[in-house]
Amino acid sequence: MAGAGRENGAMDATTQAVALLRELIRNACVNDGSPGSGREERSARTLEGYFAAFGVDVELVEPEPGRVSLVVSIPGTDPSAPTLALVGHTDVVPAVADAWTHDPFAADLVDGVIWGRGALDMLSLTAAYAVIAREVAETPLSGGLVFAAVADEESGGALGAEWILKHRPELLRVDAALTESGGVPLRAADASTGEPGPVRGVTVTVAEKGISTRRLKVRGVPGHGSTPYGSVNAAVLAARAIERIAAHPSRAVIDDLWPRYVAAAGFEPDLASRLMTPATLDEALSELGPLAGLVHALTHTTVSPTIVHGGDARNVIPGAADVVLDVRTLPGVTPQAVDALIIDALGDLAPRITVIGEADAPASYSATDTPLFEALRASIADVYPEADAVPVMAPGGSDGRFLRWAGIPTYGFGVLSERWTHAEARRAMHGNDEHIDVASIEATIIALRGVVHRYLGSPAAVDEAKPAPSANV
Ligand SMILES: [Zn+2]
Repeated sequence: MAGAGRENGAMDATTQAVALLRELIRNACVNDGSPGSGREERSARTLEGYFAAFGVDVELVEPEPGRVSLVVSIPGTDPSAPTLALVGHTDVVPAVADAWTHDPFAADLVDGVIWGRGALDMLSLTAAYAVIAREVAETPLSGGLVFAAVADEESGGALGAEWILKHRPELLRVDAALTESGGVPLRAADASTGEPGPVRGVTVTVAEKGISTRRLKVRGVPGHGSTPYGSVNAAVLAARAIERIAAHPSRAVIDDLWPRYVAAAGFEPDLASRLMTPATLDEALSELGPLAGLVHALTHTTVSPTIVHGGDARNVIPGAADVVLDVRTLPGVTPQAVDALIIDALGDLAPRITVIGEADAPASYSATDTPLFEALRASIADVYPEADAVPVMAPGGSDGRFLRWAGIPTYGFGVLSERWTHAEARRAMHGNDEHIDVASIEATIIALRGVVHRYLGSPAAVDEAKPAPSANV
């Protein structure tokens, strides 16, 4: 790994980030969206303590009791220089301890790997952001830096990033921002040996799919459970509707980002060319193994039936049933197009089913011809000298969308070590035995340090091969 000459500083910062990460995991800010979830106040206090005595402006906001987000603002020395926000969340999704080989909230550190819920999504990144922010607090750069550790990302952000941008927008008044996902190293296998070659690309998330929610109101005819023949059972109709929707093909769409990803991802040439054509892409999915779901999601508007309710008495044929659909839209897909897709899938069931639109949030996108993206590209090369930044879309949502909607160019950025593949990173998010390796935290710190120095305006500091100022703290 590159970074020679800054290794002392990076190691020390890495040690700090690992310690912070373990504390954040142990705080167990589990957010399942129910009342009393999250209680992110604990991690806000941990981070407040980390910045104590550094003379920085720390603001805590608490839209509901216990749902605390922390915002640290570090002014730059030049008011005309660009400003950057590093936005991490502190909440995590639940974990079923029985299915883990490590206690999900013990933050075990074994052989250079930290185990625990949130290790990858995204407490390791939040910890790395904090460490970099404290370095900047010690030695300010030309531009100002904001570090935000926000609540509630895992159940939609209404009590975290979205709340801040709505009610306290001055806290996140910046020119650009970084947040989660991205950082996956992409490498092709060597044609002769089959061994993985050098890392040629690292993903940077520049876009997120849109999220639409639809509720199907299924109408049957109530009757006695003892005489089903000829009945119009809403549960049976709902089951048919779900099968049709799940089996309904949506058209593959190749956007601007897709060819750049395919070129960097290391597919063998014949497969790569089939993945580039809508007509052949769907058939190629079955050859992609654990990457198939991701590739499908990045090239299609998808519909997942997620909640089903019907009937309330054992002996009554239900006259009504409800089905909730989680729809993830590609850029440019309108709410009307979502309705049309569902009605088309329902076919002759449509007269018995009303499709109700419950929410529509469009896809979000940040351009890649920006100074911050250039800084990301150069800083990736600090870690992987032969790698370029590969802009990708994320199939799921993050706080990045609120920032983009507020007009702030936002990228999902960190840098994972060579042990990670795209499929493995996807599997580990919200999965059992979530973990992160110390090497990935170190790579992220090196890259983030490069980004803040390049973007906030202290290029000389990047070239100077001296330990970072925090080395003795
Ligand atoms: Zn996350």
